[in-house]
Amino acid sequence: MNITFISAPAAGKGLISSMLNEKYGFPHISIGDLLRSVDDVKVKNQVKNGEFVDNRIIAKLLKERLSMPDCDNGFILDGFPRNMTQLSIYEDICEHINNKKNIIIVLDIPREVGEMRVTGRRVCPNCGYVFNEYFDKPKVSGICDHCSHELIQRSDDNIETYERRYDTYLKETKPVIDYFETRGNVYHVDGSKSSDETFRDIEKIIGGYND
Ligand SMILES: [Zn+2]
Repeated sequence: MNITFISAPAAGKGLISSMLNEKYGFPHISIGDLLRSVDDVKVKNQVKNGEFVDNRIIAKLLKERLSMPDCDNGFILDGFPRNMTQLSIYEDICEHINNKKNIIIVLDIPREVGEMRVTGRRVCPNCGYVFNEYFDKPKVSGICDHCSHELIQRSDDNIETYERRYDTYLKETKPVIDYFETRGNVYHVDGSKSSDETFRDIEKIIGGYND
């Protein structure tokens, strides 16, 4: 089975993908990671600066990666397609890779919950542990429970960046989901629950397939 994850910003796609990878062994292919791994200075810089990378480059990389033997039994694709142009690339690639079923999982999250996840996120620069001032508070505000280091807020965890990403999602990615809906292989999952609950909801969907 090939799982394509589409999700609103801060719905927890990365974490859920890793959980699926751990339990089922499907390789987790993230477009961001794929682009960062490219040995090309121009692409590296575009990724670093959050600039647009040519869709032809993305198409080539994705095709190569999904054709590798570890994808024969299925994969988890994360971060693609994000817009209608990428949708046609996706459809073309899906025709030429393994003959497994493709299912689309959409992780939904209300804008307000996403805002709290992002603006409340505090990271420990020492041990990497992540807290949230609303949902997963450290015992002492601003201090890491595990190593007592002072917590920081990452510069891109701000409301303006989040609003921009959410608006782009509605404008560009929502039409992709609408298109998939007409094909009947889309499952909506509530991404605002805990990751364990969300994971269980996804397992119920996957359990219905034996491909
Ligand atoms: Zn720490």
